[in-house]
Amino acid sequence: MNSYFDNIPRVNILNLPTPLVKLKRLSEHLEGPNIYLKRDDLTGLGLGGNKTRKLEFLLGEALSQNCDSIIMPGDIQSNCCRQAAAAAAAVGIQCHLALSGTKPEYAEGNLLLDYIFGAVIHWCGEYTNGEKIPEIAEKLRAQGKRPYIIPYGGSNCTGVIGFATAVCEIKDQLTNQNINLDYIILPSSSGGTHAGISVGVDICGLSTKVIGIGIDKSVPGDYEYELAKLANEASIKIGFDKQYDSKDFIMNYNYFGNGYGKIGNLEREAINLTGKYEGILLDPVYNGRAMGALIHMIQDNQFMKNENILLWHTGGIQAVFMRARELVEKITD
Ligand SMILES: *Cc1c(COP(=O)(O)O)cnc(C)c1O
Repeated sequence: MNSYFDNIPRVNILNLPTPLVKLKRLSEHLEGPNIYLKRDDLTGLGLGGNKTRKLEFLLGEALSQNCDSIIMPGDIQSNCCRQAAAAAAAVGIQCHLALSGTKPEYAEGNLLLDYIFGAVIHWCGEYTNGEKIPEIAEKLRAQGKRPYIIPYGGSNCTGVIGFATAVCEIKDQLTNQNINLDYIILPSSSGGTHAGISVGVDICGLSTKVIGIGIDKSVPGDYEYELAKLANEASIKIGFDKQYDSKDFIMNYNYFGNGYGKIGNLEREAINLTGKYEGILLDPVYNGRAMGALIHMIQDNQFMKNENILLWHTGGIQAVFMRARELVEKITD
């Protein structure tokens, strides 16, 4: 392990290392490069996913500041909120979720799990970006609580560190399996995963190119700037001496389709092919789109046959059940 992380507080909530697997049958079917998967859908706690790596450090910081509760914003089906609820339960602090929208009659998917993991839900209506958090925090402080506030998607310089350490983990796996990785492809949305992987690649001295697939944005500019800012803040925090610029981040916005969370043929075909050839589930919102993008880039001859390409599986598979009718057509036989 790298000394950059020695003095950063963390909590033990992950089941590591997550598997690094080769998708042999899918790669052969596509007659393209070797496709690998980093299975961060299997981080463990609370059904897993990429956010638990960020929460390892976010909750570490919360406990080091003697906080006894967390507050975070998100969508009603937020994967991050679900993992935060589980992580808070595991370390024994209270989780308050500021969710957009209004209370539905029944809880399903991630919201169901939020309740099971004991989170307190604050319904925030049209306030989708944590606007209500100061008010919630004030109320908790008035009750003598010490809340720690986690930003949207867990993407700040502390959360980013979780993915810098993840690259150190994968570096050992690559060495053991004798793989020279040419590309890492990932669904990129609030930025913490992408920024962290980029910092980790530099810390570990890998020559791997990192490509983010746009999930909820379709135009370049502000987001690359945001990625550089996150990477710089995290680097300063761990004492890694590198300055990032927006040009250091590669994003591909070609697969935005009809928008965030809109399932099209790209996502459907990627999910069904990965399921059929590997027995592995991808979610429709993030990894289905990223795998669809990778398959399209392979079919478009953007990679050489001897190259090794990894999709970083970030989890989120509850959405398969939430969106079942859009994934498999009506059963007629
Ligand atoms: C949040 C999330 C992402 C995106 O990660 P960011 O760090 O927000 O860019 C990708 N996949 C899944 C399943 C997620 O929940």
